Amino acid sequence: MKKKTTVLNCPVDLINESDALELSKQKIEEKKNFHIITINPEMIMYAQKNSSFLNLVNSSDLNIVDGIGVKIALKLQGINQKQIRGVDFSRKLINLAFENNYKIAFLGAKEEVIQKMRENFLKQYPNLNIVYLRNGYFQNNEEIINEISISNPQILLVGLGSPKQEELILKLKEKISGCVMVGVGGSFDVFSGIVKESPLVFRKLGLEWLYRTVKQPERFKRIFPTLPIFLIKCIIDTVKKKG
Ligand code: UDP
Repeated sequence: MKKKTTVLNCPVDLINESDALELSKQKIEEKKNFHIITINPEMIMYAQKNSSFLNLVNSSDLNIVDGIGVKIALKLQGINQKQIRGVDFSRKLINLAFENNYKIAFLGAKEEVIQKMRENFLKQYPNLNIVYLRNGYFQNNEEIINEISISNPQILLVGLGSPKQEELILKLKEKISGCVMVGVGGSFDVFSGIVKESPLVFRKLGLEWLYRTVKQPERFKRIFPTLPIFLIKCIIDTVKKKG
């Protein structure tokens, strides 16, 4: 049984990366759908004011800890949980697809990004079984859902940013089976090489968000005031539970 807790009413699974990967493989083999959310403070804060997103976060199969903020929130509960970075987890899923010849689909990011990403993957993983690849700038959700269900992937990575990617997966779940589906944010930009990954030292210190904010100052308004408010809410919540 995997362990769970909640952070501001959002379920968070206390699972390490290799178990999450093993579980994904098991679901593919059992031909079951498996929706994984890489949960971060912005998503949890969005769920506080949007009840349908809160329901969505409660209806997924696994919510893994992405984002240092969630790691700190768990620490306040006395839980030591390793972060599973969305980019790293996606890489592992791509490797899983390659090793098992699973059908893999990619939706999201700009056209030049996905073309470069495909080129890079095919160099690294010749014969990677890509059954669908489409950029994330489209008008008609139904058309995309239809196309993906026809391609019948066993692993689907959706890089549209949140909540778009989770909302699309929710609709898609009804139409496909035997598929591991993950919202991966800006991971395709990293895979294409167009956006550089933060240096290891930043990643190790959990300061990836700081590096990305310095590189892309427009991200500042996403983090502030959301992140400090998130942490204050978590502290209040912990104090209430203890009192
Ligand atoms: N994106 C997309 N379609 C849209 C809006 C965004 O495909 O309509 C892509 C965008 O190109 C980027 C990703 O979604 O690749 C969002 O990245 P972001 O950095 O916002 O996500 P994070 O990694 O912070 O979750």
